[in-house]
Amino acid sequence: MNEFTLGPLMDALNLAEFTNRADADVVDSLARTRGTFGADRPPAHDGLIRWSIDAFRNYRTAWRARQAAVPNLVPVRAPWKITHRNDAVDQRGVSRYEQTCWGRRYQSVDDSVREMWLLSLAAPVERLEIVTLAAANVAAFGGEGVPEKVRVVLFGATSPIVEPVVELTAAQIRDQAQEKVAPKLVEIVDGTARHPGRDCGSCPDVPACPALAAADLLPGVPTVPGPRRTLSVTDLRYHRSCPAKYHLRRQLKLRDTGLVESRPVLVGRAVDSTLRERHTGGARRCRPGDAPGGEVVALPEDDRRTALEMLARHAALCPFPDVDEVRNDRHRFVVAYDKRLDVVVGGTPDLLYQQAGRWVWRETKTSRRRLRRDRSLLREVPQLALAVLILSARAPEGSPGGSRIELEQLRPDGCALEEVDPTDPARVAEAREVIGELVEPVLRDTTFAPSPGDGCAECEVRRWCAPGIEYLTANRRSAS
Ligand SMILES: [Zn+2]
Repeated sequence: MNEFTLGPLMDALNLAEFTNRADADVVDSLARTRGTFGADRPPAHDGLIRWSIDAFRNYRTAWRARQAAVPNLVPVRAPWKITHRNDAVDQRGVSRYEQTCWGRRYQSVDDSVREMWLLSLAAPVERLEIVTLAAANVAAFGGEGVPEKVRVVLFGATSPIVEPVVELTAAQIRDQAQEKVAPKLVEIVDGTARHPGRDCGSCPDVPACPALAAADLLPGVPTVPGPRRTLSVTDLRYHRSCPAKYHLRRQLKLRDTGLVESRPVLVGRAVDSTLRERHTGGARRCRPGDAPGGEVVALPEDDRRTALEMLARHAALCPFPDVDEVRNDRHRFVVAYDKRLDVVVGGTPDLLYQQAGRWVWRETKTSRRRLRRDRSLLREVPQLALAVLILSARAPEGSPGGSRIELEQLRPDGCALEEVDPTDPARVAEAREVIGELVEPVLRDTTFAPSPGDGCAECEVRRWCAPGIEYLTANRRSAS
């Protein structure tokens, strides 16, 4: 199955822009060839095909509007690329550097103006100044000759609108890139630090990485050939509820941003964000009357009261000030690697802190009711099972061992703190069972078929899922 979200869209745009095929004809080929356009590569999932067709139409609408505003723009096929060559290898062992920029390229017929279009999967994503500047730099100095002006344009695949975010002269780009982009590029090529995390999924160094905690995490799961997977509890839950939803939402990162999330989810997230704000850089214990964060204030009154009650309960369980160090957001995704399965498992604790030299992984769960007690804690909260596996492999990197897991439960009318010991062999055995049962079907899956059901009503990728739409239409009809 194709795992490069923008692949079919880019191929479709290449056909439209460089072979003058009519849009309807391109859409027809996209659907008929399942996004391969006859090339020898894996076909796309039905959901990605539908998404790509929507995105293609949006892009072409945006492009036609842009052409009306700037009539003499034409597409550029060859990538712009700035190359630095040295006669001999330098202190890094390198003799050639290339700067490129991923996107779509246009220039005026006289090449006095160039445009670099940057694509994102939903709404146009605002980029850091250094990113747009680096893109403009490649557009200005990465082709034959130098234009007078360069624009960087943002396109988001779910809407047919584009706006230039930056317009600079070549001279301005030269000055600003020298000052801001060049030092960053040097820092990047000099950087040798290792930060295990989400990128481990695609890193060729992973099997021998000294910073990545590795162990035979899931000895009961048979090996299955296939690409390396990075799996979190959210991934596993999505796959269990609907394999298509897992593939589209988690692997391809598609999302219908127009959907409203459920109230308990919004309350939980608002509480979480307030606690994170307080615990970042704050060395004092939370108190019941502390001011809530912006996300709590923005909730409707009923939900806000619930969130405030939960936050007041937290004061009794706050670990501060007895905390030596807190992991910041960027490095909070903790991973461990199962070499035999070629699987990276990872989780984001709500709070990861050090106390007396040992790591503590805290999950905070907000709910109106107590946890069910008719099944084991690790089955009820699989995040804890995953945390047991990860910590038992001695992650985070360089962990001295002796880590522990805490489950903080916050309800409007009460709270509790439970501890789980990841060195307890019985816990590890149970965690392997709980997570293994969820991992095995993901590794075996090659089709990611939808399993329509009640979950479709709130599904973030239903818009591109024909069986999901059919299911809801049929059930609405039978309900009325
Ligand atoms: Zn606190």
